[in-house]
Amino acid sequence: MKFKIVSRGDNRSEKIKATMKQYLTEFDLEYNREEPDLVISVGGDGTFLEAFHRYVHRLDKTAFIGVHTGHLGFYADYTPEELEKLIIEIAKTPYQIVEYPLLEVIIRDKSGKKEDRLLALNEAMIKTAEGSVVFDVKIKGEHFETFRGDGICISTPSGSTAYNKALGGAIIHPSIETIQLTEMASINNRIFRTIGSPLILPKHHTCLLEPIKEKSFIIAIDHFSRTYNNVKSIQCRVAKERIRFARFRQFPFWNRVRDSFVAEDNNNL
Ligand code: NAP
Ligand code: MN
Repeated sequence: MKFKIVSRGDNRSEKIKATMKQYLTEFDLEYNREEPDLVISVGGDGTFLEAFHRYVHRLDKTAFIGVHTGHLGFYADYTPEELEKLIIEIAKTPYQIVEYPLLEVIIRDKSGKKEDRLLALNEAMIKTAEGSVVFDVKIKGEHFETFRGDGICISTPSGSTAYNKALGGAIIHPSIETIQLTEMASINNRIFRTIGSPLILPKHHTCLLEPIKEKSFIIAIDHFSRTYNNVKSIQCRVAKERIRFARFRQFPFWNRVRDSFVAEDNNNL
């Protein structure tokens, strides 16, 4: 079994990385940056997002796991206190795999020559630095609304507790294959009208955003954003790929939600 550890880079995470690397190698596991079967992220959810994008080209072969060195994370949900047990469990392979849905984003260029296909673990956010965005929003090929406002966020179920939540979106259990659209400050008056509520689309229901005004867009995929010009359309749907988590013990999603957002006493996590 080949493994790789991605650390946030702070002292605590680096120490944990070194310990894990040493023990797992002593258990005859191979440290391999290029083709790991298991990627261990040590840090926060942000570190996990980075680890995910580093190995996004081999999702069918790589499983992920996150250890948190700060507060409890949604992806980074193992504690440093569990390290010893975790190392033994990893060394014992095979392990149980849990899969979560991802978001596929295809950005098409007006020239018809360029097409970017990206996968998001949390969300895609489409904004502009030049005033408001104006899009025709199509769902399953049918015109749904013309959106004018700060932007649109399209999130995965596991990303529903991140930016999506701050925008008033629902928290979705990751066993549901869906994407959620939330508005960022839409303009609603007698001329412009949008639905106003978050929309939850099932698998195979594609959402297409077609810019009406010539603008440059800022498209953020998880923690990484880029500026795009000459955008013809941005297509979003549930991806055929999925992220695979290595699971060594139960920590149900709703318990993570409770312990992150509502439970007062989570000092022992
Ligand atoms: P960041 O600014 O450190 O992230 C903001 C917070 O979101 C951090 O506390 C991060 O946890 C947490 N987070 C990330 N993914 C999450 C998830 N699936 N569920 C619940 N919380 C989550 O930037 P970052 O660490 O690079 O993470 C990028 C993500 O942050 C974006 O994908 C976006 O969803 C989110 N974000 C949220 C807001 C907001 O809520 N207003 C604003 C900006 C970005 P850690 O501290 O463990 O990294
Ligand atoms: Mn972070």
